[in-house]
Order: sequence, then C-alpha cells, then structure tokens
Amino acid sequence: YQAKVAGLGVRAYDRGLDTAVRERRQLLEELRVALHPDAPEQIVVHFQPQVDAWSGEVVGAEALVRWQHPRLGLLYPDRFLDLAEEHGLMPALTHRVLHSAVASSRDWREEGRELRVSVNLSPSCLTDPRLLPTIDALLLDGEIRPDELMLEVTETSLMTNQDEALAALRAISRRGVGLSIDDYGTGFSSLSYMNILPATELKIDRSFTVRVVEDERTAAIVAGTAELAHRLGMRLVAEGTEDVAALHRVRELGCDISQGYLHSRPLAPPAFREWLGRQRAEAAV
Ligand code: C2E
Ligand code: MG
Ligand code: MG
Ligand code: MG
Repeated sequence: YQAKVAGLGVRAYDRGLDTAVRERRQLLEELRVALHPDAPEQIVVHFQPQVDAWSGEVVGAEALVRWQHPRLGLLYPDRFLDLAEEHGLMPALTHRVLHSAVASSRDWREEGRELRVSVNLSPSCLTDPRLLPTIDALLLDGEIRPDELMLEVTETSLMTNQDEALAALRAISRRGVGLSIDDYGTGFSSLSYMNILPATELKIDRSFTVRVVEDERTAAIVAGTAELAHRLGMRLVAEGTEDVAALHRVRELGCDISQGYLHSRPLAPPAFREWLGRQRAEAAV
C-alpha cells in the first residue's frame, strides 16, 4: 500500500511537471504569435510618469511592456520576459516597445507635452545588430528627437559581452540618445565603469527608495550616489517612490526625479493621457 501511494505521488508529480512544461510551451507559441508583425495588438505598452522631485512637473515616462493575453488576461513582464529572452524573441519584443513608445511620445507632443520616454533594453538587445538601425530609422524619420529618447540598461547586462555592449552604448550616445543605468546599486556596480559609460542618468533601485526614510545607512548611500551622479553630469532618479515621506527624503538627499506609485502606477496610453491632462489642470489652479 505504502509503495502504491508513493508511486501515485511520483506519477502525480510527473503529471504536474508535465502540465507546467506543456503550459510553458503553449505560452511560448502564443508569444510567437503575439509578436508576429501582423498579429493583433496583444503586446502593449503602459507608461509610468517621472516627475521633477521638487516641482512635481512631469518630465518623462517609462515604457513598461504588458501582454494582453486572449486567455489569461493582462500579463506582467515577470510572466513572459524570461521566455522571450530564452527563445530569442527579445529583439522582436523590443522593436514593438520602441515603436509604441515613440508613437505615444508623438501623441503627447501633439497635445503640447514634450516628455522624455524611456525604454528598457535587455542584455541580448544591447548586442542585437538590428538595434542601431531601428533607432536610426526612428531618428531619421523625425519620429522622435534623440534627446527625447532614453534607453535603460542594468549594470548586470553590461557584464556579459562587455566590449560589444560598451560599443553599442557609445554608438547610441553619439546619436544624442540618453542612457540610464537601471536598478543602480543592485548589480556589481563597478565604479570604474562610471568612467567609461556614456550614461546620462542613474536610477537607484526601489530597494533603496523604500528604506531611505528609516535607514540612515541607506540614506548615506543615496546621498553619495547623488553626489557621484551630479559630479559626473548625470541625473539621479529614484524609482519606487510610494509615499510622500520617501519623496521628501530622496529629494533632500539629492534625487532629481521621482517615479513611483505615489505619482501614478503604469497606465495604458489613454489613461496616461488623461492623467497628464489632470496634472495640467491641477498645475493651473
Ligand atoms: P524596471 O525597469 O526597474 O521597472 C520598474 C518596475 O517597478 C515596474 O514593474 C513598475 O511597475 C514597478 N514600480 C514602479 N513604481 C513602483 C512603486 O512605487 N512600487 C512598486 N512596488 N513597484 C513599482 P513592471 O512593469 O512589472 O516591470 C518589471 C521589470 O520588467 C522592469 O523593471 C524591467 O526590468 C522589465 N521590463 C518591463 N518592460 C520591459 C521592456 O519593454 N523590455 C525589457 N527588456 N524589460 C522590460
Ligand atoms: Mg526600467
Ligand atoms: Mg528600474
Ligand atoms: Mg527595478
């Protein structure tokens, strides 16, 4: 009897594993379809505002990818980015996100709002030979001004293929496109990188922003990072600002820009435009 139960257990476990593998495979096939050039719009981009930490003025927005899945509803990046990265779909996904971000920034401009738009690049995108031609095409067509576009990379993405990654970043920077180091302080931040990276912005990771009010050591690290950023001619962005106390603390410590739920969650393009409109109405009062 014991053996029977154990056997059943193993079989049930196998079946569970089977199901997981099958689901992942299905998700991958569906992602391929969603990324096909003439697929209906399933891969969408939400925007989260970035505001001047002192004046509250909206200065930019980060593009964050979402998958409007026909069966599973709205999926967040943690559900499908790994899959895309593993199976070489990241360049196609980034192409989508870049074009959506640029199209939205054009909409904002038509409404009289000049905002920078930030797009995240994964490690494999940075060394993808199609990246620069895509950016060049957007710039040449006048779809966006180089100083309105920001690309976000993490420190860790610079570790693999260092030379290639650095060459790509330099090429991007030569075009006048901004470069942000995302989740700054959580990777293997090497200070010698700061000497050679053509970055225009550092984005301190949310883990610092959430602790900065209570923890003096964290506050010291943020203040030091602000000093470093400013001396090297870069802006400092605090990500994950969730309450007023955190906003006040990060700006006292030298953060220039704040991004987080306090200001707004990432919003679908129509909701983001409404949010921009409300901000302007409030500013006029
Ligand atoms: P990230 O680039 O560091 O983006 C910030 C993440 O923090 C977003 O999660 C955002 O919704 C979340 N966030 C912003 N403010 C707050 C806050 O106040 N509190 C909390 N708890 N969270 C906040 P999201 O959209 O789920 O994206 C997760 C990650 O997925 C991003 O982290 C980025 O690394 C990656 N990602 C998103 N879109 C893209 C994309 O188009 N391409 C690539 N390569 N990666 C992307
Ligand atoms: Mg980012
Ligand atoms: Mg980040
Ligand atoms: Mg982060």
